[in-house]
Amino acid sequence: MKLADYTTVRLGGPARGFVRAGTEDELIDAVRSADAAGEPLLILGGGSNLVVSDEGFDGTVVQVATRGVSRDGGPGVLTVAAGEDWDAVVARSVAEGLAGLECLSGIPGLTGATPIQNVGAYGQEVAETITAVRVYDRVTGDVQQIPNERCDFGYRTSRFRGAGRFVVLSVTFRLAVQVLSAPVRYAELAATLGVPVGGQVESAEARAAVIELRQRKGMVIDPADPDTRSVGSFFVNPVLDAPALAAVEAAARARSGPQARVPHFEVGSGDGLAKVPAAWLIEQAGFGKGYNPGDGARISAKHTLALVNAGTASTAALLALAREIRDGVRDAFGVSLAPEPVLVGVTL
Ligand SMILES: Cc1cc2nc3c(=O)[nH]c(=O)nc-3n(C[C@H](O)[C@H](O)[C@H](O)COP(=O)(O)OP(=O)(O)OC[C@H]3O[C@@H](n4cnc5c(N)ncnc54)[C@H](O)[C@@H]3O)c2cc1C
Repeated sequence: MKLADYTTVRLGGPARGFVRAGTEDELIDAVRSADAAGEPLLILGGGSNLVVSDEGFDGTVVQVATRGVSRDGGPGVLTVAAGEDWDAVVARSVAEGLAGLECLSGIPGLTGATPIQNVGAYGQEVAETITAVRVYDRVTGDVQQIPNERCDFGYRTSRFRGAGRFVVLSVTFRLAVQVLSAPVRYAELAATLGVPVGGQVESAEARAAVIELRQRKGMVIDPADPDTRSVGSFFVNPVLDAPALAAVEAAARARSGPQARVPHFEVGSGDGLAKVPAAWLIEQAGFGKGYNPGDGARISAKHTLALVNAGTASTAALLALAREIRDGVRDAFGVSLAPEPVLVGVTL
């Protein structure tokens, strides 16, 4: 059994042990047993944010396969087991007249992973609608309910990311009971829908438009399309302070002339921080869509941020490409891009 069969980028060597946990009790038992035996543990969801070493994982992989969605918590409240397919949950919320997740349509993986990196797209992130995350705490051995304000959500991060202490059992969302979407914040999506930024459409319409935009960028898994054999965006968009942004602007002018402009978006915290699209930095540093160094890993032909396994890649080749891009961007702009996926047994 190779972990390549369980990751969307189709990479990763064998695991020493593999347990599929279909119930919450099985999930907790599997984690407790591994911990009691001092066994390294990898919790596996849909494998859509994982880059696993070619040597595999020298420990036990516990695959989350728990099911169940409850609407018992009152109007708009949805409690979802960690093993539920995320896009099916979004589809259901839209079909049931609940708004707040529609822009997160088409994202692969399972619900339990969504709080880990505070999944976000097209102007929404799960932190806006999660009220609590129920977890098994591997340090205390207890099951706890962690309210939103103690999840430390930030841009593509939370207290769950990297720590490994908490196994997510279920996630509770509070959604708006309405047919209309939440206000559309993302300019490209608003333009596609023909509304101003801040406008609303029916959630089903927003969902359809998001899926179409994502498909065009190879961001919806399609086994027939090698450009979707990825972990999604490989790098997070860097958040820069004013001096770092000024340095990027100066480098851009030196490279492309005095008219050069660096796209950026204020982060909104009021402290002068700005997010610069990693895709823009990568392209300007000379790595365009389809860039292919020739050893099986290449940049997607549809999206500069997605590094794909063209079919014959190894994890080593994927990481070599990622390093080449990271170093190229650093040399050109002085910005260090950080990886978005979780790296298992490898480093960048
Ligand atoms: C084509 C494509 C498009 C994508 N688009 C987006 C996007 O638009 N926005 C975005 O934010 N992400 C995106 N991603 C990344 C990815 O889909 C999300 O991060 C997703 O939430 C990962 O879910 P998963 O179940 O596949 O997690 P996995 O990849 O299986 O695991 C990811 C991490 O979470 C941990 N984990 C998983 N489940 C649990 C649990 N129950 N308890 C504790 N830890 C757990 C794992 O141990 C690992 O560290 C994309 C990926 C792909 C392949």
